[in-house]
Amino acid sequence: MRGLILKGVGGVYSVRDDEGTVHTCFARGRFRRQKIKPLVGDFVEFQPQRGEEDGYLLEILPRRNALRRPLAANIDLLLIVMAPVPEPDWLLCDKLLSDAVSMGVEAALIMNKRELSPDGGEAALSVYRHLPFTCAVSAKERAGLEPLREFLAGKTFVLAGQSGVGKSSLLNALLPEAARETGGLSEKIARGKNTTRHSELLDLGGGTYAVDTPGFSLLDAEPMEPAAFLATYPDFSPYADGCRFAGCLHDKESGCALREAVEAGEIPRERYERYRILLAEIRELWRRRYDG
Ligand code: GDP
Ligand code: ZN
Repeated sequence: MRGLILKGVGGVYSVRDDEGTVHTCFARGRFRRQKIKPLVGDFVEFQPQRGEEDGYLLEILPRRNALRRPLAANIDLLLIVMAPVPEPDWLLCDKLLSDAVSMGVEAALIMNKRELSPDGGEAALSVYRHLPFTCAVSAKERAGLEPLREFLAGKTFVLAGQSGVGKSSLLNALLPEAARETGGLSEKIARGKNTTRHSELLDLGGGTYAVDTPGFSLLDAEPMEPAAFLATYPDFSPYADGCRFAGCLHDKESGCALREAVEAGEIPRERYERYRILLAEIRELWRRRYDG
């Protein structure tokens, strides 16, 4: 049979088949010998339990991607959640966006607690117009969620953002009515944060899954070459050809077309200033990449 790994703890996997039945499967020695660790989000071939005999995994189907932190496979989307309260950390937002691009995962941004912003969070989102999806919502008032639901449909996504922005509240708001009524999942989301270190897929219905990752805040990215870091800014790329120097990193170089775009108000200044802060960090990390 074919299925999707929802959860894996200590070599015991919960595998959901196409009909929605969840099977308990073990990973046999073959996986360990081949040094392949089945991950949450993996599509697998498995042998379901037969009488007294345990179910077990037979094969992992080819992955689209595999993240190390959160440990999960076949992720379609990194959904970054920001909010007016607590004090938003936009540097974290830019870091997450950059990491997502470098890992080949699409990223989108939502502004939660929109009722607490005088402008409903629109100004903050306008800095990120280049993203495939942005929207302002309120998990508490269950407002603005429909476009988000539509965008998420059929995707497996990871929620990221500062603690307290409302990630758990959002997950609860996105749960299908039936699941919310039983209370089981909502409770699990509320508790989940601190009771387990393992990622788990939450079934939001309609083929949409959220990776529930306790304590996760930043993706685990490798040190990056500064030029590769710049390449994670798709909103900057239209200007590269206009710079005086080929390979301009848009830092202090003269004749920089990107800086002109910032002066002209085409690129939000804050996004550019944060880019330079992160670029300095990246340069430092890159310089030290071989140090102990
Ligand atoms: P997490 O740490 O990102 O998972 O955040 P939580 O979901 O635990 O929410 C943190 C706090 O923000 C809680 O007190 C929530 O009730 C509150 N909260 C969540 N969403 C909203 C919202 O849309 N509006 C307001 N005003 N508060 C919210
Ligand atoms: Zn430049």
